[in-house]
Amino acid sequence: MSWETWLADAATAREEAGLTRRLRPRSAGDATIDLAGNDYLGLSGHPDVRRAAADAAMLWGGGAGASRLVTGTLTLHGDLEDELADWLGQPGALTFSTGYHANLSVITALADRTAHIVSDAHIHASLIDAVRLSRAQLTVVPHNNVAAVHAALAARPGVRSLVLAESVYSVLGDEASLVELAEVCAAYGALLVVDEAHGVGVHGPGLVHRRGLAGRPDVLVTATLSKSLGSQGGAVLGPRAVLDHLVNTARPFIFDTGLAPAPAAAALAAARVARSRPDLADTIRARVTGLAGTLGIQAPAGAVLSVPMPSPEAAVAAQADLLTEGVRVGCFRPPSVPDGVSRLRVTAGAGVTDEEWDRAVKAIDTIVGEVG
Ligand code: PMP
Repeated sequence: MSWETWLADAATAREEAGLTRRLRPRSAGDATIDLAGNDYLGLSGHPDVRRAAADAAMLWGGGAGASRLVTGTLTLHGDLEDELADWLGQPGALTFSTGYHANLSVITALADRTAHIVSDAHIHASLIDAVRLSRAQLTVVPHNNVAAVHAALAARPGVRSLVLAESVYSVLGDEASLVELAEVCAAYGALLVVDEAHGVGVHGPGLVHRRGLAGRPDVLVTATLSKSLGSQGGAVLGPRAVLDHLVNTARPFIFDTGLAPAPAAAALAAARVARSRPDLADTIRARVTGLAGTLGIQAPAGAVLSVPMPSPEAAVAAQADLLTEGVRVGCFRPPSVPDGVSRLRVTAGAGVTDEEWDRAVKAIDTIVGEVG
């Protein structure tokens, strides 16, 4: 089969399954109420954040200019890493050009064929890809099942093991049993890697910190700068020995240009705002709990409410109807959903006004009611 035929067949199959994805450019002046993004605290457009990005671009230029080990490490990276480590209560931090790179780096640098990875079934794609790249032995355990993690570690005693979890899972929005996982990991000498992409900011310094696990030598945090911090980039936070190992061996760090000045400065400014404005996280909690109550579904631990839909087509149709009402929500369909259930994805962020939020809730309630 020629590759053109193969591409056309794949496109047809996607179309028939209702799974075709299309890019929809958003203009800068778009007045739609945006409940589809990950700018949970609404800091992307905060004046301090915008100004910091613009000032950094003027001072340093458009890019870091090189990979971090060449000349691409700026004093700005150090300032950002110190701020993040201080906020999250960790010995140190290392920043990356994306959260995806942070996850790829941690797993590929710490695991190889001789290691065993125990991964929650709902783990993010970046961690799944990282595990594949690492070639480690893999056990996928049922979602949020500490007993299964225990059994998986017990099955390979003496093998260097990593356990992968998200503090708040992206799709279902539920919280990992972090304390119990840390206990099991400690019992077997395993390293617990917690992706806090949806935890930091929404839960202040994150759930690893909130659950008293920050700074432990056997708990490593990865994070993104692109959600609550309204910027771009990623970070790994934990023991210095791990960070040094990443600097020396992590290919997605070594062979990648350093995080650009504007997003680094934006994330730094956003972290400072987030630390001084705990009320933003309170707004998220109130909104997400209120909307969950309105729709009669369980409130998530994070900022995103997943609303189950009867089919991918119904999810897409409800999303389009909401857009007509001036409300943009996200839509999860296979293959981005671990359990095959299509969902609307509604971000209860702090970035919209109370009036906008109330208007959006009314529209969502009506349109979801019509589908259900
Ligand atoms: N981890 C999780 C849980 C995520 O949801 C995401 C982004 N969707 C990432 C990692 C990747 O972060 P980034 O967008 O900064 O690459």
